[in-house]
Amino acid sequence: MSLLKDIKSSINSESINDYIAKILTDNINKKSFDIPDYLYVTDIINPVYSYYSRKYPEIETPEKIFDRMKNGEETHFIARQWFEKIDGFSGSEIVLNGSNIDINVIGRSDFMIYDSIIEFKTKNTDNISIDNLFDIYLSDLEQLLFYSIINMNFDKNNYLIFYVDERFYVYKINIVDPDTIKSEISYRMSLIKRSLVNNDTALLPRCSYYLYGCKFKENNICSCNKLSAKNASWIKNSIKIEEDKEFENKLYSIYKNGENNIDLRFYDLIYPRKYYHKMMRDEVIIENSKPSFDYEKNNIKFFILDIINSSILGVNGYERAEKNMENKIELYGDDKYIIKNIYDENSITPFILKINNSKFTGKIPETYYSELAVTCARRNIGNGIIIVVYPRLDNKIVVHDINFDINKIINLCNQKINDINYALKNKNPEILDLCPEFTINSCPYKNCSCKMEIIKRS
Ligand code: SF4
Repeated sequence: MSLLKDIKSSINSESINDYIAKILTDNINKKSFDIPDYLYVTDIINPVYSYYSRKYPEIETPEKIFDRMKNGEETHFIARQWFEKIDGFSGSEIVLNGSNIDINVIGRSDFMIYDSIIEFKTKNTDNISIDNLFDIYLSDLEQLLFYSIINMNFDKNNYLIFYVDERFYVYKINIVDPDTIKSEISYRMSLIKRSLVNNDTALLPRCSYYLYGCKFKENNICSCNKLSAKNASWIKNSIKIEEDKEFENKLYSIYKNGENNIDLRFYDLIYPRKYYHKMMRDEVIIENSKPSFDYEKNNIKFFILDIINSSILGVNGYERAEKNMENKIELYGDDKYIIKNIYDENSITPFILKINNSKFTGKIPETYYSELAVTCARRNIGNGIIIVVYPRLDNKIVVHDINFDINKIINLCNQKINDINYALKNKNPEILDLCPEFTINSCPYKNCSCKMEIIKRS
């Protein structure tokens, strides 16, 4: 049987939780604005890029830039295994929402240690100094500062960390004047909005990474040289920077002594052949491998996540760090999907959040159960909740309480992890479950074994 079917048969009970749905709906009603059209911190640090992305959405990312982005992503996955071993690790890819300071900006912090933001960058250079943070790596510094300010659980100490050819450079950034940083975000947002209305980029500063290539430069749409460079003077009195040698040494010893585990995320168990082809570095069809953004769906997701985190269900970095020490199976990537157990605030409940375009709330997709089951298994917790938002029903929220036979699910997950390892070792994807049907057509791998098997069967 497939994982999806096995999980379905391991559900002890399912019920609708109107109580949690009401808490979330009441919190939405308290907000005085509709779901915002968010800007991202990445827009704010590169306003010109943001401008042209909106004016010319059809411009494709050239292959070499795309490859560079892919490599960066891979290093981030490996880096997560280093950061997870640091005391206080409280999550990766944590979504931050500026709503708590009345700014509709979204960010995604690479990692967090308790409530401190970690911005992690890989660089190809010989050496990095504090001065370089203001000239060469100004965007990276800005990114860290903007994330820190929109963090609901603000901590004045945050970290900008560079990985350069087996060396770590850790800069502890102490924020002494948050208001100036907040004003800079608001100013940049107004700059972007004004430039879009006036069709004019003259006031926008050049991106700091312009030397490394950009799709708008390659297409002669934007000419970097005519724009003025960014001015870092507003930052100088807002922060104090010090090198953190202790943190550097800690990271280095983790890096040197640690064996990297297989990088398996919770959804890889649900899409096992996609994972197989990724690990085998099979050829990709570029067209299918580009992420497809649904801004509207994303905005709803960010909005509801913010509602969850700012309600009585929300947990802070210290609580997440404590709970993240429990890891029953070697999977990653779901460290942020926990909320307080509404009936017992000393325990937590794993959850997943889904935006569903259906008009019917009666039946939810099977993959929802699988995602929640794997998330629950990792933490050895039998109860979890699925929060579903229906945009076509005026953003109605339906919450499903699910109780699993958790030992059965843990065994299933471990079995599937063994299968994946075996398939990789023996170069045999056929022993793995097919990926869910709706994903097969858009599979990025040229020799997708799911497609081949379907053709063979027909
Ligand atoms: S061409 Fe330069 S300034 Fe223009 S968007 Fe690209 S990197 Fe930014």
